[in-house]
Amino acid sequence: MKKSAVVVGGGIVGLFSAIYLKPEFDQVVILEKDKEIGGLLKSITNEDGIKFDYGTHIPCETLIPTIDNILFRDVNPAEWEIFSNFDVGNFFLGSIYENSGYANTLNLPKEKYQEGLIDFLNGEGTDYQEDNLERYLNKVYGKGYTELIYEPLMKKIVGEPLCSLHTKSFKLFDIGRLIVGDYNLTKELKKSATIDSKSAYPDYMQGASANKKFYPKNNQGITRWMEELTKQALELGIEIKTNCDINGIKQEDEKITMIELSNGEYIYPEKVIWSVAPYILLKHLDIVRESKGFKPEFLKSIICNVVVDRNFKLKNQYLYCLDPNMKSYRITLYPNLTKTLVEKNIFNCTVEIFLDKDMEFNKQEIIQELIKMSILDESFNILSFDYKVIENGFPIITEAYIKEMKTQNDLVLSKVNNVILLGKAKGEKFFMMDTLIEAYEELTEMYGRG
Ligand SMILES: Cc1cc2nc3c(=O)[nH]c(=O)nc-3n(C[C@H](O)[C@H](O)[C@H](O)COP(=O)(O)OP(=O)(O)OC[C@H]3O[C@@H](n4cnc5c(N)ncnc54)[C@H](O)[C@@H]3O)c2cc1C
Repeated sequence: MKKSAVVVGGGIVGLFSAIYLKPEFDQVVILEKDKEIGGLLKSITNEDGIKFDYGTHIPCETLIPTIDNILFRDVNPAEWEIFSNFDVGNFFLGSIYENSGYANTLNLPKEKYQEGLIDFLNGEGTDYQEDNLERYLNKVYGKGYTELIYEPLMKKIVGEPLCSLHTKSFKLFDIGRLIVGDYNLTKELKKSATIDSKSAYPDYMQGASANKKFYPKNNQGITRWMEELTKQALELGIEIKTNCDINGIKQEDEKITMIELSNGEYIYPEKVIWSVAPYILLKHLDIVRESKGFKPEFLKSIICNVVVDRNFKLKNQYLYCLDPNMKSYRITLYPNLTKTLVEKNIFNCTVEIFLDKDMEFNKQEIIQELIKMSILDESFNILSFDYKVIENGFPIITEAYIKEMKTQNDLVLSKVNNVILLGKAKGEKFFMMDTLIEAYEELTEMYGRG
């Protein structure tokens, strides 16, 4: 009989895992519930054919050759922009800062900056072990900066007080460094590993990593990357079944031995790579976790896709709005990633916002925020404004969430031993390159290939 592996979920982790695993199996099948594969790395196309991504999805080299050789095998410099730095800015305390995404504490009132700095310099490094976010922030960044910067910011993003969140929730939002001095002072301070872990140079060009970052040219959106990887998978003989749900799973001797698909087919896998929520597998194995009364909660992310007829006033590829009273969080300025549409006088951006369950937003409010942040001047016309709601985007990471995800993962692995849990849905890693490195490490451990 043919040796076969099934990969459930056709997001980036599912696609990468299938390609990595193919040399080990005669048959590899990807099962994807949606009509297209790619997960959150698909792009959205508006009525005028303009592409937008689900947030700032810019892949970068991991510097692990096996991973990079798969991910970037087909990246042709004629069709891709290649950068050595992320050009990122932020809006904080009423002013725009184009040189870094991190909050600049020098903008705080002088006394508050100085008071906060003493605690910051005496605090722990970011590797400090503490589950509760409030205690973690106070210990690492000090009481002053926690109260002035992180408490309002986390309330804006997650809508929950610090004391109810797990430290991991903070690490999802790339806000873990602060600018506390000019270049020379920061360079001196960074000689301490503790301070290095939580401080940023005032300019992203200073101390930036050398790995390459990639974005497709010609209004193709990051979905182009998924197309390249799909082509690679098909060339290797991997089968991709879209619009395909699982109707049933048969388990024998602690193994998944058969998967019944919604199209009536049956698959008899030797190995199952599960890159979707583990509770779905538990349900198929007749283990009902919902009865325990816990359901992971997610932030409602809104992706607002805006097109205007004037170029943006900032040079950044993306920027963070760190103002706790504004709804916008991360803004991606596509003309600063690739120029193709600029020649046609089309300027597009994506504004990501996170909403509490009952919160509302409106188009005018977001446009006003873009003006306030100096991204737009007053003389533009809006050519289009669409938005998409992502219900299960960023998890709200509480201690209960961490415990429940661990219980679900352990439960799966205790019932079936031919399954590998991977991907964002597993609840341990969130960012795409982190989920990919984790997948590579787990699969390498199992199959012994570097
Ligand atoms: C709004 C937002 C912005 C983000 N921005 C960034 C960023 O800037 N940088 C970054 O590194 N990361 C970012 N991320 C995280 C990034 O998107 C994930 O790391 C990445 O998508 C993980 O890939 P995955 O394959 O694990 O999951 P997904 O991309 O979610 O793919 C899972 C796939 O499984 C499919 N599926 C679900 N259920 C089933 C089922 N029952 N059967 C079959 N298939 C199923 C889904 O349709 C989907 O295609 C962002 C996430 C969100 C929500």
